[in-house]
Amino acid sequence: MSSTAGKVIKCRAAVAWEAGKPLVIEEVEVAPPQAMEVRVKILYTSLCHTDVYFWEAKGQTPIFPRIFGHEAGGIVESVGEGVTDLAPGDHVLPVFTGECKECAHCKSEESNMCNLLRINTDRAVMLNDGQSRFSINGKPIYHFVGTSTFSEYTVTHVGCLAKINPLAPLDKVCVLSCGISTGLGATLNVAKPKKGSTVAVFGLGAVGLAAAEGARIAGASRIIGVDLNPSRFEEAKKFGCTEFVNPKDYNKPVQEVLAEMTDGGVDRSVECTGHIDAMISAFECVHDGWGVAVLVGVPHKDAVFKTHPMNLLNERTLKGTFFGNYKPRSDLPSVVEKYMTKELELEKFLTHSVPFSEINKAFDLMLGGEGIRCIINMEE
Ligand code: NAD
Ligand code: ZN
Repeated sequence: MSSTAGKVIKCRAAVAWEAGKPLVIEEVEVAPPQAMEVRVKILYTSLCHTDVYFWEAKGQTPIFPRIFGHEAGGIVESVGEGVTDLAPGDHVLPVFTGECKECAHCKSEESNMCNLLRINTDRAVMLNDGQSRFSINGKPIYHFVGTSTFSEYTVTHVGCLAKINPLAPLDKVCVLSCGISTGLGATLNVAKPKKGSTVAVFGLGAVGLAAAEGARIAGASRIIGVDLNPSRFEEAKKFGCTEFVNPKDYNKPVQEVLAEMTDGGVDRSVECTGHIDAMISAFECVHDGWGVAVLVGVPHKDAVFKTHPMNLLNERTLKGTFFGNYKPRSDLPSVVEKYMTKELELEKFLTHSVPFSEINKAFDLMLGGEGIRCIINMEE
């Protein structure tokens, strides 16, 4: 038992008080974990675009004050009643979507959409009592996707924590808790390209580059990166991209450009932008008869996907996935092992690092389209 178990912990957290305003490092009180909850000391976190969307709250429900952050690695500090498979000292990756291991989804081999713990961006409190575990002077500070990792300590449901190899360096594998696993799994588990096939990846941020990495691992022979930001292209070569298309360079829809480049369409496409136009293009650019498109990006809340039904009748398949179809607790430890055995390289994703006290710099980098992942060191 740690000396802090059962007690309120005072620690630093980066609080978003208002939409789009810089985070403020505050001293927050973190309540002890309740039944089926775990309190985790976060050591490293990184910034994913999903944090930025909800912080900007332009196309999403604004919920403030809130502690964002969902890509992280940490160590269990204490566990609540009923938690049997985690103990203080365990190394964990928090995940924005959980696995209760009991519902129909968790029992299905195909789904990772747990009934109890699937991502819910509008829920800002814990399931157990509908309250937040964070407060400042008694005033609640809201949670984000059940993880809120921009805090030195956080409380999550046990089902949102993957227990990983304690030898895995948390400053590297923390990025597997969202973006990289999402892109990798979208290709390997959902798009499933055959050896020698052609894959288009829309959006060359961390998620898209991980999708390209998945295509490379699967043995695709052509990997076409599509992005509006040409500065992404040089970097994307390291992730197996063989060709690049900037939709801005053409005066016709990018799906037509891709169809011309590939004699009728790509075999697989993976959309990692969150923009509805890119989603539609990603679907319409796959070859009829066998093409499969996978949507990964998180769209604007009012977005509507529009395509002619003939595009589907012509035997194209449209799919979507959360977290690359990985079940967080059952599957994530094996993705960490892929890194440990060097099948998967993570270093090339980690382009920047900042101390926690300068977390807003990570936002500036992402908003400026610079780098891939910025690691935020909670102990600095
Ligand atoms: P990112 O901002 O780093 O990368 C997105 C890239 O898309 C950028 O390089 C941008 O220039 C490009 N882009 C934007 N609009 C485009 C368009 N119309 N055509 C082509 N390229 C375009 O973001 P990221 O962290 O890599 O995340 C990518 C997406 O995946 C986000 O929407 C994020 O919310 C989502 N996401 C989904 C899941 C999931 O489980 N489904 C998990 C994590 C992240
Ligand atoms: Zn479940």
